[in-house]
Amino acid sequence: MLETRINHRGTENTEETKSLCLGGKIHLRTGKETRLFLLIGFNARVKAIYLFILGCLFGIGCAAPQTAPFATALDWVTQSSEYRAVCQQTYAAAWEKVAPAARSEAGPWVIVMDLDETVLGNAQYQRELAARGEGHSQAAWAAWVERSDAGLVPGAKEFITKVRTLPRARIVFLSNRYTTGLDATRANLKKLGLTTDSDIFLLRREKADTKAIRQREVLEGSRRMAPYGAHRVVAWFGDAAHDFPDDPKLKWGTEKFMLPNPVYGRWGK
Ligand SMILES: [Mg+2]
Repeated sequence: MLETRINHRGTENTEETKSLCLGGKIHLRTGKETRLFLLIGFNARVKAIYLFILGCLFGIGCAAPQTAPFATALDWVTQSSEYRAVCQQTYAAAWEKVAPAARSEAGPWVIVMDLDETVLGNAQYQRELAARGEGHSQAAWAAWVERSDAGLVPGAKEFITKVRTLPRARIVFLSNRYTTGLDATRANLKKLGLTTDSDIFLLRREKADTKAIRQREVLEGSRRMAPYGAHRVVAWFGDAAHDFPDDPKLKWGTEKFMLPNPVYGRWGK
């Protein structure tokens, strides 16, 4: 076990010990060791920091964290009335824009929705990962998708149900779920009363098949969207920046609606 002693100002007889995740201890010794500290203290401190970083890099003796780093965010999503309010507020505001915009459209139109943390809530997946002391992995995620057990983001079902009452309503679900999970995803949405035969699913074929590529196909009515023809996109919904086209003409709260996701995302890297 690594043991490092660092001098600190104070008296010689007072000693504090602080454990690190490295499994070692730093003794904060105080007192008349000042002279010794002047001789070796700096080097010892640098050495301790260096060994600590090395230890963490190689995972030496690091115990699994007692609390998942996203635990507070997950509690907010699953337990707070504030999260529900923000989601419901977003969808209520969206309806105020989407309904008149769709009714004024003479031709075919769609709304484009991301799935995870926009329509489907995956708090249970995160809870199970935390209980197992694991982080997200593609294998764990694929197994979760196959279970078709995702829940609902507050307000999503009410909004989608109202959208379907509009003339010629159609929804494109544009998600980074892989196409291998399409049947399970459809089953999940069906279980929640969220899908109809007119829905279009643009899931990810492979890693290079980015959302930007599929967004272009929707806007152009090209490739995978060619069988459906060109549609005007009335609104976009997502929980991450990449869920929306990079187009300055599209405004938040008018054509773009963001749902809150404090649990995961590129922002966390
Ligand atoms: Mg998402």
